Amino acid sequence: MKKVLVIGGGIAGIQAALDLAEMGIQVHLVERLPTIGGRMAQLDKTYPTNDCSTCILAPKMAECARHPNIALHTYSEVTALEGDAGEFRARVLHYPRYVDETKCTGCGECVAKCPIRVPDDFNMGLQQRKAIYMTFPQAVPQVMTIDAEHCRYLQQGKCGACARVCEAHAIDFEQTAQEQQIDAGAIIVATGYDFFDPGELSQFGYHQYPNVMTALEIERLISASGPTEGHLIRPSDGRPARRIGFIQCVGSRDVRHQRFCSAVCCMHSSKQAVLAKEHDPQVESFVFYTDFRASGKGFREYVARAREEYGVTYVRSRVAQITEDDIHNPIIHYEDAETSRPAQMAVDLAVLATSLIPRPATTSLAYLLGIEIDAYGFIKTDPFAPVDTTRPGIFAAGCCRGPFDIPESVIQASAAAARAAAINI
Ligand SMILES: Cc1cc2nc3c(=O)[nH]c(=O)nc-3n(C[C@H](O)[C@H](O)[C@H](O)COP(=O)(O)OP(=O)(O)OC[C@H]3O[C@@H](n4cnc5c(N)ncnc54)[C@H](O)[C@@H]3O)c2cc1C
Repeated sequence: MKKVLVIGGGIAGIQAALDLAEMGIQVHLVERLPTIGGRMAQLDKTYPTNDCSTCILAPKMAECARHPNIALHTYSEVTALEGDAGEFRARVLHYPRYVDETKCTGCGECVAKCPIRVPDDFNMGLQQRKAIYMTFPQAVPQVMTIDAEHCRYLQQGKCGACARVCEAHAIDFEQTAQEQQIDAGAIIVATGYDFFDPGELSQFGYHQYPNVMTALEIERLISASGPTEGHLIRPSDGRPARRIGFIQCVGSRDVRHQRFCSAVCCMHSSKQAVLAKEHDPQVESFVFYTDFRASGKGFREYVARAREEYGVTYVRSRVAQITEDDIHNPIIHYEDAETSRPAQMAVDLAVLATSLIPRPATTSLAYLLGIEIDAYGFIKTDPFAPVDTTRPGIFAAGCCRGPFDIPESVIQASAAAARAAAINI
């Protein structure tokens, strides 16, 4: 049977795996985190249709788990690669969950009893989770994971509350990392993106002012499954945020940071402004933009609706600085490009659209796979064979190649699946 190894279980990796599996090809899908889903799982709704993100993603995730041609390797990473196109041999390291996947029912009794609380990465640290956890309710696989770094039993040999309460006897503190060899004819890299840390731009006060947030943080706040159940409230005092300033190009299109355009921010900021208004009709949103890049199908119409139906104000400007007043209202200082004059605006919440950057581990993964990265650190692909990397038999799709939205990532995933199927002899 033909075999393909897909690295990364975001929407791009999931789509590539499903396409290949449907062609009758056996897929090994390797995901670093305890669940597949990637960034799309953190989104509330998706532009340009404002469909519920989880409603589109969750059935695909479940299909990956169910499909007889897909072997899921979550909480796992590729550590070595030998061979060439048609006969790659990868070493895959499975990290210990300290929970037996075959026994865990995902009931959550252990979570209720766990005494340890740590910042919840999935919710961008806006709430806490336990040391034993399921990343989000629709996680695949539907099993718990123990965060070894914070587990009292694994660190100090004390506690074990989860093991005592687990009726399925699924807790296994003796688990160790396991290595496995996976043979594959072709490989698809779909390891996605990371975010520029706006703390590097101290003039925006991100780590300093409580009501200055990033776009993904507000995405979690707006989400009905998020820490505030969709209520858009100010972190400083819990009051509803009624006046929101969205600042574009934070780190992007900036010669000191990322020279490239992050491609999705003009649209996701418009989306968030629309969603904020839908949640609370009293919300007023202001999008501070350099020049507007909404070049996809139906995107201009989406922005026109944001402006006309939802009253979103677009301010052509360059934001110089954010300060705050004595009740933690961010004050946005900007140059108005229409009047060429400095201006300022007080808001309840300032949202930074930070650039999408390569994941820090992209360079080491590329080295391990014997492929090249581009000048920005994304996986390098051929301009005329856009999902082909510099090594035959290895393809790339989605945001590991650069910033793309979901439809674009899915197109690339299907293209990579087709290319992998053709080469996989
Ligand atoms: C705030 C915000 C809002 C957005 N809203 C929208 C929207 O409304 N509509 C839209 O079309 N797009 C939107 N996007 C863009 C969307 O997030 C991306 O297009 C999409 O997530 C890209 O998917 P991906 O699979 O390429 O990457 P990711 O979602 O990043 O998935 C990559 C996966 O690979 C895994 N991984 C990483 N390294 C390894 C490794 N070494 N081994 C194994 N696994 C690994 C990761 O854990 C992750 O699960 C938004 C982006 C942001 C920042």
